[in-house]
Amino acid sequence: MSNKIKIDRVGLYGQKILIRWDDSHECTFGAKEIRISCQCAQCVEEWSKRQLLDPATVPSDLTAEDYLFVGKYAIQFLWSDAHYTGIFPFDVLRAMCRCARK
Ligand SMILES: [Zn+2]
Ligand SMILES: [Zn+2]
Repeated sequence: MSNKIKIDRVGLYGQKILIRWDDSHECTFGAKEIRISCQCAQCVEEWSKRQLLDPATVPSDLTAEDYLFVGKYAIQFLWSDAHYTGIFPFDVLRAMCRCARK
């Protein structure tokens, strides 16, 4: 998948993230929903895959303050709780989509 995807922060304070995929499918995620699925070494223990992050510690009004593309395959979000080490591959985000899959 190329990085022709587009990201928009939506909702009153940007607590939702709208992703427009290059096949014109659109998904809306809660910022917190993406944040708590973070797979970085601070959030998930590498060898056991045990989740170290307690989702309850992530504020429900979390927002993505900024984001950047990592190569052509992933997005790195700068969350308002100052966590930004997580990298979210496009295919992982797409797999989180709850819309009907094609
Ligand atoms: Zn979707
Ligand atoms: Zn993380």
